[in-house]
Parts: sequence; structure tokens; C-alpha cells
Amino acid sequence: MAKDIDIGEFHWLMDMLQTIDVGLVVLDNQYRVKAWNSFMENHSGLKPAAVRDRSIFECFKEVPRQWFEHKTQAVFLLKSRSFTTWEQRPYLFKFKNYRPITGTEEFMYQNITISPLVSTTGDVDHICIIIYDVTDIASNRKQLEAANAKLEKLSRTDRLTQLNNRGFWEEQLIREFMRFNRTDSISSLIMFDIDHFKKVNDTYGHQAGDEVIKMVANTLQETMRVTDVAGRYGGEEFGVILVDTSSENACIFAERLREAVEAKIVTHDKVDIKVTISLGVSEISKQVGDHKAWLEQADSALYKSKQGGRNQVTLWLGD
Ligand code: GH3
Ligand code: MG
Ligand code: MG
Repeated sequence: MAKDIDIGEFHWLMDMLQTIDVGLVVLDNQYRVKAWNSFMENHSGLKPAAVRDRSIFECFKEVPRQWFEHKTQAVFLLKSRSFTTWEQRPYLFKFKNYRPITGTEEFMYQNITISPLVSTTGDVDHICIIIYDVTDIASNRKQLEAANAKLEKLSRTDRLTQLNNRGFWEEQLIREFMRFNRTDSISSLIMFDIDHFKKVNDTYGHQAGDEVIKMVANTLQETMRVTDVAGRYGGEEFGVILVDTSSENACIFAERLREAVEAKIVTHDKVDIKVTISLGVSEISKQVGDHKAWLEQADSALYKSKQGGRNQVTLWLGD
């Protein structure tokens, strides 16, 4: 095959390799650079003369030696090709990204192919690295993933309060119930509802009512731990799952929340509005058949708080 190419055509080949829009690097078995095309020169700023016969690790500190040697061992020994995608490793050479469309990306994402160069004696003393610029693909994929994550968050978030919406929160309640069945770990649930909320709407208007709901949600966010899972269950009704929490500690939390809401003032149209909440607490136990029964226990305790005069916490101790 080599005999068929005359020296003129060989020149063409070299020209093509030079101008092709992928990076081409040839290394010997000591990882010294033997060939360096113009793509590599343009992106690294280093001319072939500056890198020729120098170790790739010496010239490019970002090339992870251990990983790269391991990766190329198979190419040298087994004479097989090796691939790496940008998802596994964003880049091999840290080149700046100059593309106008994907200008948001700081560096060039790369797919890499490493091929053995078999000599006429059948040995592999050299390898060829091909570097593909896949910044556009990576950037699009990342944007799509970010958009999907945003959509997913929107689909589980309540617009007014930014708490979990009822559907997602109930899913978490089911998960917590199943976790309890698997691990026997304790957990408590609090349901609470704003007292005489209809009066707020009737007296100050629906918008003022919305402000009050937001204030209650914010107070909840400020009071709870990051591991607690809060949701807007209904119009002015909320639920909190307190993971790894006994009923005793859940009651302490509930009382703190009750006091915090009582102390807040919502100013709407220059009018100060104050509200209170009633709460019901239920610790999960083996007697609870499913997540609905657990919820009903907390709701029944909440009902007792309402009956008892509102603005109070009740622990479920059996109906
Ligand atoms: P109680 O102390 O017994 O809980 O009395 P309440 O007036 O709070 O009871 P009720 O549950 O009957 O009233 C809830 C009211 O909340 C009725 C509904 O119009 C109002 N509401 C539900 N969702 C929203 C909302 O998103 N915004 C506003 N402003 N009001 C809402
Ligand atoms: Mg209600
Ligand atoms: Mg209410």
C-alpha cells in the first residue's frame, strides 16, 4: 500500500492532516510528541517545533499521567483502539473555547480516540491521538439538562409558596413510610392549618390572604432543618415530614413554629395582619397501615387543636 503512494501524494496527505478540523497528535512509547497538526498548534499556541520530542506530560500539565498511561497501555499492548467521551472526561488538553455560539463554555469539550500505529514489523511503537471539538454538542446537552431540571423542579413546586406541591409532597410521604417499614427508623409528621383564614380573605381581600400564606410558608422554611420535607397540602394547609425525629422532638418543633407564626406581622395596604396556626403531630408506628393512615392521625390531632381553641399543638395518642 505504502509503495502505491508517490512522494507527491504523500505531500497531499500531510496537507490534509494539517488542515483537517480535528486535533492529531502522534506519540512514541515514551509519550514524546512526534507529530502535531495545525489544529493543535492553533488551540495550544505551541508550534510543532516547540513540542517535538518533548513529553506530553511535560508540555501539558493538565494531561492526567496515571489515567493516560493506563488508557494507552491497552493501545500499545493489545493494539486496539481506545475512546473517551466528554461525558467521561470533559477534555484531555485544556483549550480555551472561542466559539461564538457556545461562548458560555469556558473550555473546549473533547472526544478522544487513541489508535495504535502499527509499524511494518508489526510492532506498536507509536500511537495517534485524535481530538474532536464537541463543545457545541456538550453545551447543547448541558443546556437541555439544565432546562429539564428546571422543568422538573417547577412540576413539583407550589407557585405561591415555593414549597413542594401536594403531589410531590405526598410522594415523599409514601417514600418515608416505606423507609420506616424497611429500617424501623422513627419519623414524625406535622399537619397544620391557618386559623380563621376565611376571615383574613373576607376582611382584607384574597391578595392579603396570599401574603399571609407566603409568610407562613417562609416561617416554616426558616424554622425547619434541610432534611425536613415541607409541602403545601391545600389552600392554607401544610404538611412537614420530620425525618429521624421522635414525636417529642416533633412537638418541640411544632411549638416553635406556632410561636414564630404568632409573632409575625404581615403588612398589606398599610394594614397589619396577624394570624395563628393549629397543628397536629403524629409519630409513625407499626400500627399505622399506610401513609394515608399516618396522615389521618396527624389530621385528627390537628382537628383536636382546632376544637381545643386553635393556636395550639396536639400530639396524636389514639382516637
Ligand atoms: P379554621 O380555623 O377552622 O381553619 O378556619 P378557616 O377559616 O381557616 O377555615 P377554612 O378551611 O374553611 O377556610 C380556608 C379558606 O382558605 C377558604 C378558601 O377560600 C381560602 N383559600 C384557599 N386557598 C387559598 C389561596 O391560595 N389564597 C387565598 N387567599 N385563600 C385561599
Ligand atoms: Mg383549612
Ligand atoms: Mg384554616
